[in-house]
Amino acid sequence: MSPSPTRVLVLNSGSSSVKYQLLDMRDSSRLAVGLVERIGEQTSRFKHTCLGSGDTREQNGPIADHEAALKAVAEELTRDGLGLDSPELAAIGHRVVHGGMFFTEPTVIDDAVLAEIERLIPVAPLHNPANLTGIRTAQALRPDLPQVAVFDTAFHTTMPESAARYALDPKIADRHRIRRYGFHGTSHAYVSRETARLLGRAPEDVNVIVLHLGNGASASAVRGGRCVDTSMGLTPLEGLVMGTRSGDLDPAVIFHLARVGGMSMDEIDTLLNKRSGLLGLCGDNDMREIRRRIDEGDEDAKLAFDIYIHRLKKYIGAYYAVLGRVDAVAFTAGVGENAAPVREAAVAGLEGLGLAVDPELNAVRADGPRLISPAAARVAVAVVPTDEELEIATQTYALVDAGRN
Ligand code: AMP
Repeated sequence: MSPSPTRVLVLNSGSSSVKYQLLDMRDSSRLAVGLVERIGEQTSRFKHTCLGSGDTREQNGPIADHEAALKAVAEELTRDGLGLDSPELAAIGHRVVHGGMFFTEPTVIDDAVLAEIERLIPVAPLHNPANLTGIRTAQALRPDLPQVAVFDTAFHTTMPESAARYALDPKIADRHRIRRYGFHGTSHAYVSRETARLLGRAPEDVNVIVLHLGNGASASAVRGGRCVDTSMGLTPLEGLVMGTRSGDLDPAVIFHLARVGGMSMDEIDTLLNKRSGLLGLCGDNDMREIRRRIDEGDEDAKLAFDIYIHRLKKYIGAYYAVLGRVDAVAFTAGVGENAAPVREAAVAGLEGLGLAVDPELNAVRADGPRLISPAAARVAVAVVPTDEELEIATQTYALVDAGRN
C-alpha cells in the first residue's frame, strides 16, 4: 500500500492575484511559495520559489485570467518535481473570505458548498467571486482531489448575539444578512492558540486580546480559545484605523458625504475602503514610512500615528472589559510583528490594567513568538507572528486526513 499523501497546496485567490504555498504536513515545511499579481493586465508578474533548491523564477507579461495563472503555477510546480498530479498531494486548501453564518468550520467543497459561497457574494462582492474562480479553476485541474474551503469568518461564528448583532430591527437585518461577521479569523485562531502555547498553558485556560495589525487590521477578544468579539463587522471596513480603511466612523458621515458632498455610493465606498485610514490621513499607508517621517518632524504623519494608536488603545480597553480577565495581549501581522513604536504606544499608560512593555525586549527583532512584557507583569504582552497559510494547510489536512482514517 502506498503511504498517505502529506502535501497541501494553499491557494489565496484575490481579485487580481493568486498567492500560493505548497506545504508538507509531516513537518509543516514549505516546499514552494509564489505570487501571481496583476492578473488580467499587460503587466502581470509571477514569482515562484522552490524552497528545496532555493531556485526563484520570475515572469513578466500578460496573464489573462485566474485559469491561466493557476496553469502557470502548476507548470512551475511540475518543473520542480512538485506537480499537481503528484500522488503526494493530499488536498488543496482555499482561503475563502466570507462564509457567513453557515460555515463555522473548514469544509470539503462540493456543489452545495460552491452554491452557498456564491449566495454570499452580496456581502463580500470583492472577495468571494475571486475565491470561487480560484476554486473552480483548481477543480478543473485536479477534479479527483479534495478541495477544502477555510473561511476567514469561521473563527468568529462563536461570538454571542450581543456582540454579533447591530442595534437594528432584526427583521431588516436578517432579510439582508446584516450582522457582524469579522474577518482575519484564520490569523486570530492561529495567534490566540500560539499565544497560549507561548505561555505554556492550554488555549481553553487563556483569555487573549489579539491585535492583527497589517495593512488591514482587526482586534479580537478570545476567551478560552473561542472568539467572543472582533472589530471587523459586516465587511472588513469596521473597527481599527487601517492602511487605507477608515475603520469606525459615525454612519452619518456617509449620508453627509452623499447629501452635502455630492458623492455617489461607489465613490464613498472607494473613499472609505481605499483612500482613508493612514493613507487618507497622511498620504502613506506603510508604517515604516510614517515612522521615518515622524522622525523628521512631519506633523501629518505624527497625527495619523496618534489617531491610529488612540483607536487601538480604545479597543484594548473595550476587549479588556468584554473579557473581564486578560492573560495576554498578542501583536501580529506586518505592523504588529515589526513596529516596536506601535506596540509601545498602544500599551503606554495602561499599567493600571496590568499592561506594560519592557523597552529592551520590545526592541529585539526576532522571528518567533516572544514576550515583550516585564517578567513581573500581570498580563503578558507578546509578539506572535501569524501564519495564515500554515493554519489553512493544517485545517485542510486535518479534515482530509480524518476523512481517510
Ligand atoms: P501585512 O498586511 O500583514 O502584510 O502588513 C503590511 C504592513 O506592515 C505594511 O503596509 C507596513 O505598514 C507594515 N510593516 C511591514 N514591515 C514593517 C516594519 N519593518 N516596520 C513597520 N511596519 C512594517
